[in-house]
Amino acid sequence: MIIALKKDIRKEEQDRLIAWLESYGVRTHISEGEFQTVVGLVGDTTRIDTDLISGLDIVQSVTRISEPFKKANRKFHPDDTVVQVTDQVALGGGHFQLIAGPCSVETENQVETIARAVKASGAGMLRGGAFKPRTSPYDFQGLHGEGIRILLEVKKRTGMPIITEIMDIGHLPLFEQVDVIQVGARNMQNFELLKELGRIDKPILLKRGLANNIKELLMSAEYIMSGGNEQVILCERGVRTFETYTRNTLDLSAVAVLHELSHLPVVVDPSHATGAARYVKPMAMAAAACGADGLMIEVHNDPAHARCDGPQSLTPEQFDDVARAVAKIRSVVA
Ligand code: PEP
Ligand code: MN
Repeated sequence: MIIALKKDIRKEEQDRLIAWLESYGVRTHISEGEFQTVVGLVGDTTRIDTDLISGLDIVQSVTRISEPFKKANRKFHPDDTVVQVTDQVALGGGHFQLIAGPCSVETENQVETIARAVKASGAGMLRGGAFKPRTSPYDFQGLHGEGIRILLEVKKRTGMPIITEIMDIGHLPLFEQVDVIQVGARNMQNFELLKELGRIDKPILLKRGLANNIKELLMSAEYIMSGGNEQVILCERGVRTFETYTRNTLDLSAVAVLHELSHLPVVVDPSHATGAARYVKPMAMAAAACGADGLMIEVHNDPAHARCDGPQSLTPEQFDDVARAVAKIRSVVA
């Protein structure tokens, strides 16, 4: 249940209402937006009389919500969430970000070369996997702690905030200075991992699972948010279908649906969605056109020799071209 309060009510009146609602055994979450304060009730609200509440002087409206996600729900938080990654870098609510970098961290020189190039093309954040979820145990698994050390070193030298994937909550201490933690498609429903990430104070980029629907993505976001961490960025990266010409099928309607259902920012990853460098530009432009809050794109200085995902990686020159095209699209749709 969502209760929208009238403007300019007194704090004591609000506190009295909250205490009364909590006496029914429900938890309350207060969202103070620029124009409106909204109270979300979580728990069994069946004993609460909505007519009684809507009759109160300080209440503007009461809505019972049927969706099982509350904290991620736009009804609970009408304004777009802006995730403040650093003092300078924000994502969501009109703040658009290009996130670029290699699939996996290979060497310091590689990451620094790519970081400088993508930064010059307008990327606001640097990506790079240190822990790689590979289908085959014989494939390169990432540099682990050394990979994170390299990312942090490059962050120091370039000033770019970094995002990297976590696969095991036991590795969390290594992520202390990482700016955004990525939960990969394969871990979207690793609920114990999500619960732990709900207890920390750091933005989480949550990728949609290979075979998960939009509601399941939002429920996974809810796992993180219900623990107290509301800085969640959703990421559409394609889902598995019967199509074989592309690695996955990019579901761009998810951007529109997620923006309708939720206040969380939505990023699109056209690299994993298509699996082919030549399809990244058209899909990046399409994602920008339909309102994505950011793009995550794999870039490698030598895609032919990349240790992971070379075929879908752009060269820095190709990324520059995509960044320009995306900027044009954004200026047209603005
Ligand atoms: C990645 O971003 O490198 C990655 C492994 O992506 P996904 O989890 O979407 O497959
Ligand atoms: Mn990859």
